Amino acid sequence: MTSPVPYAEVIGDPIAHSKSPLIHGHWLAAAGIGADYRACHVRADGLSAYVADRAADPAWRGCNVTLPHKQAVVDLVADPGGVRASIGAMNIIFRSETGALVGTNSDAAGFYAPLAEVELGGSDVIVIGAGGAARAVLFALARAKPAQVTIYNRSPLKAAALLSHFSLSGRALPLAADLAVPPADLLVNASSLGMAGGTPLAIDLARLPAEAIVYDLVYAPVDTPLMLAARAQGLATIDGLDMLIGQAAVAFELFYGRPPPGDDAALRQLLLTGA
Ligand code: NDP
Repeated sequence: MTSPVPYAEVIGDPIAHSKSPLIHGHWLAAAGIGADYRACHVRADGLSAYVADRAADPAWRGCNVTLPHKQAVVDLVADPGGVRASIGAMNIIFRSETGALVGTNSDAAGFYAPLAEVELGGSDVIVIGAGGAARAVLFALARAKPAQVTIYNRSPLKAAALLSHFSLSGRALPLAADLAVPPADLLVNASSLGMAGGTPLAIDLARLPAEAIVYDLVYAPVDTPLMLAARAQGLATIDGLDMLIGQAAVAFELFYGRPPPGDDAALRQLLLTGA
């Protein structure tokens, strides 16, 4: 009898848009690993049954978790890293050495990876948004010890709660339609504004200094209006694909026991063409 092919998945509702199968499939082929990576549509009312089912399947190595399940899974798996109390959302479930299902969050690491060489200690940071992705961003920023973080969000109360949760100094302000952002060293868009087919993030960057970095988490499209405006002003930019690839790399190693092959340029090209 042949053993079943090991596999991992990405789960969400909807799930057809996910780029994770493209990323993991590319890495599996490049590394010559005989495993599979699939997208699995899981509705909220089927989440706990899904986790119980896969826990009993020895071929299953784990899954990436996307909207709307990132918060709900924290109650279904072990949490040795204290992710429930810190970020409050998980984007990976994997099997520990004992076989128990463990949850973790690689969005914070994926966000921080392109900033690893940037000195953020004592800096002024602007974050747009206060949803799940913003929580991972603020978790990572809190470790970099910025002087202050200004969060703009449609609901400023949510933003204020996040500043307090992550013990960050700063301000929580409403996101006005014609916002002219104040000077800052780093501006991060962690809102959904700018996504294809949605409302763009229309803010004025004119007061950002020439050395400021503009980082957009939105990756569909990659060249968001924010990225285009920042580049037109000569500012350094980091797009959402860097974080997407960074968070996926952490998952790949947890699923298959080794880091992905380091061919980010080829992978970026693949993600841009969608082939
Ligand atoms: P959430 O739904 O948790 O949060 C959405 C955020 O956008 C909230 O701050 C919300 O404001 C704001 N927002 C949504 N619509 C509007 C609007 N019409 N006007 C003003 N504000 C709005 O989503 P996530 O935090 O999970 O995701 C946010 C973005 O980050 C998405 O584009 C996602 O694709 C991207 N992302 C990218 C990753 C990557 O690897 N590159 C990883 C994770 C996310 P309010 O709080 O007032 O509702």
